[in-house]
Amino acid sequence: MQSRASNVAGTGAGEAARLDPLGNQRLLVLSNRAPIRFVEEGGRQRAVPTVGGVGVTFLRLLERSGGLWIAWSGAKNNPARLMLPTDKPRFAIVFPHLTERDIASYYWGMCNRGLWPLMHFMTPNCHFEAANWRSYCHVNRVFAAAAEAESDLYDVAWVQDFHLALVPALLRERCAHKRIGLFWHVPWPPEQIFRVFPWRRELLEGMLGSDLIGFHTPMYMRHFLDGCERICGAEVDRKAGLVHHGDRITRVGAFPLGVPVDHFRRLAASDEVQAHGRKIRQVLRTPTVVLGVDRLDYTKGVIERLLGFERFLERNPHYRGKITLVLIAVPSRTKVAEYAALKRELDETVGRVVGRFSSEGHAPIRYLYTQFSTEELVAYYQAADIALLTPLRDGMNLVAKEFVASQLKDTAVLILSEFAGAAEELKDALLVNPYSIDQIAARLKEAVEMPTAERCTRLARLRQKVEASDLDLWSASFLASLPDKSITMPAPARYVS
Ligand code: UDP
Repeated sequence: MQSRASNVAGTGAGEAARLDPLGNQRLLVLSNRAPIRFVEEGGRQRAVPTVGGVGVTFLRLLERSGGLWIAWSGAKNNPARLMLPTDKPRFAIVFPHLTERDIASYYWGMCNRGLWPLMHFMTPNCHFEAANWRSYCHVNRVFAAAAEAESDLYDVAWVQDFHLALVPALLRERCAHKRIGLFWHVPWPPEQIFRVFPWRRELLEGMLGSDLIGFHTPMYMRHFLDGCERICGAEVDRKAGLVHHGDRITRVGAFPLGVPVDHFRRLAASDEVQAHGRKIRQVLRTPTVVLGVDRLDYTKGVIERLLGFERFLERNPHYRGKITLVLIAVPSRTKVAEYAALKRELDETVGRVVGRFSSEGHAPIRYLYTQFSTEELVAYYQAADIALLTPLRDGMNLVAKEFVASQLKDTAVLILSEFAGAAEELKDALLVNPYSIDQIAARLKEAVEMPTAERCTRLARLRQKVEASDLDLWSASFLASLPDKSITMPAPARYVS
């Protein structure tokens, strides 16, 4: 097996570990979607990296260490493999072949209509069908087989998210000596909720093929450990974060996902972004701008946010005409019935509030049903006085951290749902229970009327928190927590039948 030289010479030891957490080991990343998309240009297909997000961090890691990425391309026709970066190849992306039927039942059926609502504690939205589960198992096997076929190319496998929960155990059977990590990007529900999942034990045992499982918060981690103990009969050491199951030990930890702070700072400082931010303000012509940004998803509390804003205007007539809510809703999963229904409800609710509170020359809501680039989004972050983020349940909520990282002024206020993972770190935000419309309205009033000194103090503390959980630190700390080698041990006596 080849190894590689560290290419971060000239940096201090701590900084080197942060930039090159893999040392001499090559990384395999497995994720549902690839960090690139294919575009047609003049009859030819070209791969374009997707912008922003966690994908960029893994691209950076792979560019430094070499290795492999296995992911679904999202396209119907694409090469089976691609070397990246195209001008100076450092690593390969392998696209397993998934049929349209696989996508319909594994991705739309099991992932989006089953596991997504389950993980967000929303059992009434769950649809569990045996055919979809079979397809989920099949696709996980396809990914594991692709990893096995390429096993010479990597030392450490890092599996991403709930789409591939069975891959760790499948990979363990095939490549026993590899070190395997799994990061769970969504919440993990309390054991009593998780229990409704018909294949609960299989899912947990699939995950327990990992050496290390990461969640965003200690609470999700506790819920997971409860499930391992009560559903699989595993022996759990909560203090050490260890699960002994069968003949293996899995380490479990909380690794709150961060944002690339430097990247957001650079964008925030650019003349173009600042000019765009000023333009947004000018066009809105309103003393106070409140911003909400989400994918349009029923977990995001978009309707609750609107109702809270409506109640604020009802109760505080003197603010009518002086405040505008900019609502950015990114189209998402539009083929799923619940999402289409949410879009209709949102359109109706926006229409009602605009109709009730508009006056000549002023609209209380600017509703943007579209996806912006990161540059454009940062301009909106800067144009806003207040961010109002009200998810009913959210793994982390990166928008909250990006809003803080993009601020040049010291007076921006963050109102954040207490049910977002980010709320565990961002306690200096105004935390709100989005299930209480009155509380959303009250928090908005508090934010609008907050004295400047308090705004500055809160934002300074939020900045410290966001900087401390920067995205590079996140990946470095996860990889540093992976045990040096997989731990297999004799089963405890009580499991031996
Ligand atoms: N985002 C974007 N364009 C938009 C709105 C959002 O690029 O118009 C990005 C945003 O910068 C953030 C991500 O989408 O990185 C949303 O992440 P979050 O954790 O808040 O929610 P998720 O959609 O992952 O549930």
